[in-house]
Amino acid sequence: MLYLNPPEDLADELPGEPGFRVAQLHEWLYDHPTESTGQWSNFPKTLRDRLSTRLWPFTVEIEQTADRGTTVKWLFRTPDGVSIETVLMGYPNRVTLCVSSQAGCAMACTFCATGQFGFDRHLEAGEIVAQVAFANAFIRAGRMSGVPGRNEAQPSRVTNVVFMGMGEPLANYRRVRESLRRMNEVMGIGARSITVSTVGVVPGIRLLADEPWQVGLAISLHAADDALRSKLVPLNERYPLAEVEAAAAYYFEKKGRRVSIEWTMMNGVNDSQDQAGKLAEIALRLGAHVNLINLNPTPLSSERPSHNRTLQRFKSTLEHRGVTATKRETRGQEIDAACGQLRVRASN
Ligand code: SAH
Repeated sequence: MLYLNPPEDLADELPGEPGFRVAQLHEWLYDHPTESTGQWSNFPKTLRDRLSTRLWPFTVEIEQTADRGTTVKWLFRTPDGVSIETVLMGYPNRVTLCVSSQAGCAMACTFCATGQFGFDRHLEAGEIVAQVAFANAFIRAGRMSGVPGRNEAQPSRVTNVVFMGMGEPLANYRRVRESLRRMNEVMGIGARSITVSTVGVVPGIRLLADEPWQVGLAISLHAADDALRSKLVPLNERYPLAEVEAAAAYYFEKKGRRVSIEWTMMNGVNDSQDQAGKLAEIALRLGAHVNLINLNPTPLSSERPSHNRTLQRFKSTLEHRGVTATKRETRGQEIDAACGQLRVRASN
């Protein structure tokens, strides 16, 4: 599979071919990807045909669009049968891709659809990078609404990547690190436009802090005391809040970049004024921005989203304490985007 080979080793894929051909292949894979090798106009047909089944390391099982075509969600299937979810979101001046770093997840957070279905395997660096390349090919083919031609402000490729799809990226550190390197150094995506989201894998946060790239860090906190957090996020037993906070502070110190805190709002669970007050203290100590995401209900959990007025009150409490907070707009709700739910549907 072409994307599973490191970009520096592409000559292995073209035995007996001249060096310029290797350079052309590199361009087709990383600079201007296409949905099929049929569009590789500078390649002889025999070579295009030979490589056609080696292009993508997965097939498209489901492709759905929402929000008038500006949100696209894919469920990919790998040859060994695991699924990968990816969501593309177009905004007026940026295009964000939400990528998966593992097939399934071992973290078992109670409210997360992926966690409810367990862990299949780590994704290879090339499988993570191929999600970005596939989205670029899709946009280049003119298949996303609001792309240039129709809206000149919107970029014609993925500009931002968030590791908020399936999996815990820092539990797959080595491969995620290599995918970051390829996105940044080979595909030219600015490190500052990439965000790694973690549920609090403390050693991974510290390793990432020591890497050279100014990648953003999001901490999925969801609760501001250990008793509640351990109920929602089992990993909290291993890395309690104080350790997560210390690692986040180290990240901020090393990168000079504010971290953000993700907080999934659940009715009657973590949307109290008491939690808002405790969260404000943590956020102030870290200088962190808070993103509030109202729960997308999942089939195996009885939790419900917070009422709108409770969410607004929670947000006001943070703001009154001097914390900046935003309510994350949810994309693609009618297509079950963003929380492992497409896979839930596919397995029904
Ligand atoms: N494992 C990483 C990345 C994947 S989850 C992490 O936990 O950060 C990405 C974000 O989606 C997290 O902030 C997570 O809390 C949130 N999320 C998961 N399930 C959700 C749900 N059912 N509704 C709303 N947000 C959810």
